[in-house]
Amino acid sequence: MPELPEVETVRRSLLVKLPGRRVTEIQVRDARLRVPVNEEKLNKLIAGRRVTDLSRRAKYLIIHFDSGSHLIIHLGMSGQLLLMPAGRPFDKHEHVVFSLDDGLELRFRDPRRFGMVVALGESELGEFAPLSHLGPEPLAADCKADYLFERSRGLKQPVKNFVMDQRVIVGVGNIYASESLFLAGIHPLKPAGRISRARWQRLTESIKRVLRDAIRQGGTTLSDFRDSEGNAGYFQVALRVYGRKGEPCRTCRATIRSQVVAGRSTFFCPKCQR
Ligand SMILES: [Zn+2]
Repeated sequence: MPELPEVETVRRSLLVKLPGRRVTEIQVRDARLRVPVNEEKLNKLIAGRRVTDLSRRAKYLIIHFDSGSHLIIHLGMSGQLLLMPAGRPFDKHEHVVFSLDDGLELRFRDPRRFGMVVALGESELGEFAPLSHLGPEPLAADCKADYLFERSRGLKQPVKNFVMDQRVIVGVGNIYASESLFLAGIHPLKPAGRISRARWQRLTESIKRVLRDAIRQGGTTLSDFRDSEGNAGYFQVALRVYGRKGEPCRTCRATIRSQVVAGRSTFFCPKCQR
């Protein structure tokens, strides 16, 4: 599943291509995504408009237009945004196609259809429900250990669940939660409220480091992730615990364990993480 680093990778790869381009035509080949695509609204708000910028909030990519309107894209479980020359044959998973004034097409491809393509008017972004209850961005300078320390006081829930809660902090998905807890030496089942300020400091730094490393390396390959030019990420080669059940810890050689926590596979080193 694309996580924050993958979405950020897509944003950066499109940021060098899209600003300045005008959307000349929109084809909705199949509207049946998680939220049905509103073709009429897409045409009204996006067609004929020029891209000014691309931003990201959590795992939502936001394309901004000169009219003040916005195009929100969520990749869901299997979504991809592909930029290619116009006229190539479509595959059956390419659901929404934006033709651009430079002869390229931006295609939203999503075999599992959990993604989202939504046009919003200038004033609608602030009220868009999926964005309204999100915690801070982990890579923002003002996202600090003190905030997570204070917010976790009195909580008995496992620290892994806590950092994966989007209302607490966004973008720490399953892979990155396992990896950053390993780097910080914290057991994933440790109650969030019992972690000291000093250890929150280490964990916060680890979260930032793991996400930055993943972005630098172009996202992971775990779910056939591709950036907008079809290049695979290669963070997988650098994973320390995730997906390594039964293999030796790279630090202490103990055997990496796996346990299901809140329905998600969790990987940890029983010796390095306490
Ligand atoms: Zn170890």
